[in-house]
Amino acid sequence: MRAMVLDRPGTPLRLRDVPTPAPGPGQVRLRVHACAVCRTDLHVVDGELPDPKLPIVPGHQVVGTVVDGDAIAHGTRVGVPWLGWTCGVCAYCRSGRENLCDAARFTGYQLDGGYAEEMVADARFCFPLPAGWPDLAVAPLLCAGLIGHRALRLAGDAERLGLYGFGASAHIVCQVARWQGRRPFAVTRPGDDAAQALARSLGAVWAGGDDPPEPLDAAIIFAPAGELVPRALRAVAKGGTVVCAGIHMSDVPSFPYAILWGERVLRSVANLTRRDGEEFLALAPRVPVRTTVTTFPLAEANEALARLRRGAIVGAAVLDVAGSGDVRSPT
Ligand SMILES: [Zn+2]
Ligand SMILES: [Zn+2]
Repeated sequence: MRAMVLDRPGTPLRLRDVPTPAPGPGQVRLRVHACAVCRTDLHVVDGELPDPKLPIVPGHQVVGTVVDGDAIAHGTRVGVPWLGWTCGVCAYCRSGRENLCDAARFTGYQLDGGYAEEMVADARFCFPLPAGWPDLAVAPLLCAGLIGHRALRLAGDAERLGLYGFGASAHIVCQVARWQGRRPFAVTRPGDDAAQALARSLGAVWAGGDDPPEPLDAAIIFAPAGELVPRALRAVAKGGTVVCAGIHMSDVPSFPYAILWGERVLRSVANLTRRDGEEFLALAPRVPVRTTVTTFPLAEANEALARLRRGAIVGAAVLDVAGSGDVRSPT
């Protein structure tokens, strides 16, 4: 089968013919239809996350059909997320916080992922997907949607919600937030007219490159830029929360205590639990979330990553592994 393989961080992925992986006990083998591209993939490829398995096939927003293994009926369409395996016995796993499992393994980081024609996955960590969604439209829900949703939950009941960095995740969270009756404010790179227009079309009450025009009740930072942390703290009102949703961020500059004072909360979001996935995949069709997708063939994964790196993707990038071309979200 063909796969895009990372041999060494800091080098491009290589298109390789590799042996088709065989499912072990409790695993299934999938024929991959689509795999959305996440900023975390970029952090793996760029060497910003420590100790990836090497060589590694990236990709953790995988839509595929089960073709081998006993645990799920063959022909079932499933989604494979970032959380690929947990120990089930550590204090975190036993307290409903498997996202923090000490021994967790992650798809496309410690386990080969979906930048390939086939992959294996632990059946317990595969999600059933809502019917009626084409593969390319549903793929970004699996991390951009899921982690975004967890970040939104941790932002509390904020009405005025800042979204810093309007990429794949924010474009989904914005729709859910609006549906919940919140007022999203989208902060983009200065001059990013396309992202600002997308934000307005998805319900943002304001979109711009500078600071929001009124105080926020909470902010979620999706962009991996540490300097946004003090900026967002300054933008939230007393009692407000700033949530850092990314797995990696440049260093946070020091800031005066006064901008944290007033019971403001600064926190991160790490990974996902299977419960997050079940909740969000049930919620998304009710909104309904509509994804904006730019597709690339599997062999052009490096181009997708390069465009994501320079902020040139509107919405979500998705590898169209099966070549379906169907990007329509259900209405
Ligand atoms: Zn554990
Ligand atoms: Zn991700």
